[in-house]
Amino acid sequence: MGETEAEADVETSAEAETKTGTETETGSASRADSEANAERIEGTTAATESETISETASLTETPLRVDDLHKSFGGITAVDGASFDVESGSLTGLIGPNGAGKSTTFDLITGTIALDSGSVYFNGEDVTGLPPHATARKGLVRTFQIARQLADMTVLENVMLAPQHQSGESLWRSVLPFARRGIRREEGELLTQVWDTLDFFDISHLAHEDAGNLSGGQRKLLEFARALSTDPDMLLLDEPFAGVNPTLEKRLLSHIHELREEGYTFLIVEHDMDLIMDNCERVIVMHQGRVLADDAPEAILEDEQVIDAYLGGTV
Ligand code: ADP
Ligand code: MG
Repeated sequence: MGETEAEADVETSAEAETKTGTETETGSASRADSEANAERIEGTTAATESETISETASLTETPLRVDDLHKSFGGITAVDGASFDVESGSLTGLIGPNGAGKSTTFDLITGTIALDSGSVYFNGEDVTGLPPHATARKGLVRTFQIARQLADMTVLENVMLAPQHQSGESLWRSVLPFARRGIRREEGELLTQVWDTLDFFDISHLAHEDAGNLSGGQRKLLEFARALSTDPDMLLLDEPFAGVNPTLEKRLLSHIHELREEGYTFLIVEHDMDLIMDNCERVIVMHQGRVLADDAPEAILEDEQVIDAYLGGTV
């Protein structure tokens, strides 16, 4: 990854192929169609190369691939042909102005809402349209921009109720500061893990508080804790640091890096551009429901289209 032009070609070509593959002939060869065909021909070499690479590596190197996602709400098109993939073990940023379709894209990937069209592949498997509990079981878990918890239950209960499906060594437990590493089967193990998790997120003093009484930032932490305690392979985090104090944010980020080194994959929506540029090795930019750019942070900062559409006034 990293070669802007090659990637742009691949994407254009993929879009063109989808178009030519799904639309029936209208008889009037429109300008758009001939442009798409021309682009397809131009992009052929890059696309072939990339397809070969991704086919052989699809299981290990691109755990998540989304293809041509579409979603409208009445007259509003929220996601309009978004396609991208995320590399294994990466910390990838997903950015874009408000309303660009980032949260809706997360909804479509995890089955929180039904998509109009498009495909989602996770670890080489077609998971399009699966409901959230099914994608979670496969190891793909997200958090919400506006945290969702069981407000009438305590913080402790909320984390205990997150499905704990691992039976062996958990990656997550291996970075917990107080983790009891061995695989134990005693009664109290779940509780021990839950307390460790609460400690890790600095919310153990709130364990017996109803989740409904937490501040916005504390809810974010609880949500993060719940998501991680399911021991997923990949986490989609929607503005995970909103309302979280800077010291804790720094600590969580350093743990995210540790987890990433252990093999977790992260896709993070975040509006703090410095945070994205300093921590992500790759950045996907959405604008009006589409992927506008997908590249290394340095390249994104210099991308004219991105600057015009998004960065211009804000950086
Ligand atoms: P982002 O997360 O990038 O800020 P969203 O995905 O939340 O953007 O929203 C994309 C667009 O879809 C916005 O115009 C938003 O108002 C609209 N939208 C999102 N969810 C709904 C919904 N449930 N009903 C109607 N419109 C929605
Ligand atoms: Mg959003």
